[in-house]
Amino acid sequence: MIVETKSETIGKDSAALDTADPLSTYRNEFLIPPHADGETLYLCGNSLGLQPRATRQLLVDELDYWGTLAVEGHFRGKFPWMDYHEFVRDGLAAVVGAKPAEVVAMNSLTTNLHLMMVSFYRPTAERPAILIEAGAFPSDRHAVESQIRFHGFDPADVLIELAPDEPGGTFSDAAIADAIATHGKRLALVLWPGVQYRTGQAFDLAAITRLAHAQGAVAGFDLAHAVGNLALQLHDSNADFAVWCSYKYLNSGPGAVAGAFVHERHANTDRPRFAGWWGHDKSTRFRMGPEFVPTPGADGWQLSNPPILALAPLRASLDIFQRAGMAALRERSERLTAHFDALIRARLADTLDILTPREPQRRGCQLSLRVIAGRERGRDLFAWLEARGIIGDWREPDVIRVSPTPLYNRFADAERLVSAIEAWRDAT
Ligand SMILES: *Cc1c(COP(=O)(O)O)cnc(C)c1O
Repeated sequence: MIVETKSETIGKDSAALDTADPLSTYRNEFLIPPHADGETLYLCGNSLGLQPRATRQLLVDELDYWGTLAVEGHFRGKFPWMDYHEFVRDGLAAVVGAKPAEVVAMNSLTTNLHLMMVSFYRPTAERPAILIEAGAFPSDRHAVESQIRFHGFDPADVLIELAPDEPGGTFSDAAIADAIATHGKRLALVLWPGVQYRTGQAFDLAAITRLAHAQGAVAGFDLAHAVGNLALQLHDSNADFAVWCSYKYLNSGPGAVAGAFVHERHANTDRPRFAGWWGHDKSTRFRMGPEFVPTPGADGWQLSNPPILALAPLRASLDIFQRAGMAALRERSERLTAHFDALIRARLADTLDILTPREPQRRGCQLSLRVIAGRERGRDLFAWLEARGIIGDWREPDVIRVSPTPLYNRFADAERLVSAIEAWRDAT
C-alpha cells in the first residue's frame, strides 16, 4: 500500500513550524552537546537519548541522602529507597500504555528478556519453536539461541528467522501472518520488535499478538526502539510480555535501569521463574522466610533491591514524558519525521534512499537512509556530517540512521541536515 506522506510542511519555513508548536519548549529541558559551530545537531536518540537538565540534581539528592542518612535512607528522605522503584511505576505505565501493576523497572534489557523467556518460553517436543525476524539485534538473537540450547533443543531446528520480503528490508503484514500460520503448531513463542532497529519499521503489536495467540503461541516484544517513541498501548495489545531499555528514547542515561511488562492475566501465574528476594511479596519480605511467595504482577519478577543511583535519572525522564504526554509527543513526532522525510525526498533523491516505511503507522521517528553511492562514499558522508556536528549513526554496509525526537529535535534540524548533505554532494 502506498500512502503519500503529507507534504504540507514542505515549503513552510522550518523555523516557523518550530515557533508554532507548543511542544518545542521541551528542548530547553535538555543539555544539547556543544560543537565548534554552536550546538550539535543530535539525531542519535535511538542509541543514547540526551540528558535532561533535571537529572543531575536527582542524582545529587540520593548521594546526599546516602551521605547524611546512610542506611536510614531506605526509610527516610523524600523518596525512600525501600520503595524507590515504585516512584517510576506510574510514569512507566503511562509511557507504555499499561496498568501500573503490569510494569516494573529493573535490570537491563537483555537480562529482562532472559527472565521473561524463563517464564514464557516453555518449549515441548511438539511445540519448541521461536519466531524472530532475520537480522534481529544480536543480543536478542544470542538470548533466544542460548535459551533454546538451555532447554536442550537445537537452534538449527527450532529457531525460525523470518526474512524481510520488502525491498528495503522491511516486512509486509502478510509475510508475518503467513510465517505464524505456517509454523503455528510448532510455535512456542513469537518474539518481535516494536520498532525494528535497522529499518525503523514499526509493527502492530495487537495484530501480531492475535495471530500468535490464535496458534497457541506466546507473544513477546522487544520495545528497545519503541518505548518513548510510539504511543504504545501495551495492555490493550494483549501481549504476554515485553521488555525495553531506558537509555534510548527514554533519555535515562547510559546503562539506565530497563523495564518489563507482564500482562495482568499472568499476574498470579504459576509458570516457573527465576526468583530473588525483591520479587517476594512485599508484606512478608522482611520476615526473611525460606519460601518464595511472588508479589502479584510484574514486580514478582524482580531479583534484587534496585540500584537507586541508576533509577534516579528515570524519574527525571518520566516526569518530562508525563507533562508532555505520549499522545501529544507522538503527534509532533509524526509531523517532525514527515518533515525530514519530505525534505530528503525533495532535495536528496539522487543521494539517499529512505528504507523506512513512509506511512506514519508503520514507523516511529527514525529514518534509515541508504547512501546510494555505496559504502565508501557513505562513510565519507558520515564523517563529513560528524565534522559539522551532525550526529546520526552508521549501520553497515551503507546506512545512516537519523532519529529526530519530538522532545529535543526541531523542524529546523531537517533544514540543517539536508543542507549539509547537499553541500557534501556538491563539494565531493
Ligand atoms: C539497544 C538494544 C539492545 C541492548 O541490550 P542491553 O541489554 O540494553 O545492552 C538489545 N536489543 C535491542 C533490540 C536493542 O535495540
